[in-house]
Amino acid sequence: MNIQITKQGDTIETQSNVSADMNLNYGLLSHRFCSGFIDINQISKTHQSFSCRRCNFRFVFPLVLNTWNKLRKYLKSTPNGREG
Ligand SMILES: [Zn+2]
Repeated sequence: MNIQITKQGDTIETQSNVSADMNLNYGLLSHRFCSGFIDINQISKTHQSFSCRRCNFRFVFPLVLNTWNKLRKYLKSTPNGREG
C-alpha cells in the first residue's frame, strides 16, 4: 500500500500484507523514491511523527490517528498533507 503524505509527493510504502484498517506501526515502512526506513515516534502528549532514517523527512500528526484509514481522512482535511 502507498500513502501520499505531502503535497510534494512524499509517499510511505507499507508491506504488501498491510491493509487500511491496520495499525500504523505494523511491519516495516519505507520512504518511496528515497528508500529510507520510516520510524514512527510519539513526540508529545498529543502527537506522533513519521521520520525517515535516510533523508530527514519528518511529518507530525495527532496520536489519535492510529490506522491508515484515519490518517488518510486527516490528510484530505489538512493543507499540510494530501492523500493522492
Ligand atoms: Zn527519506
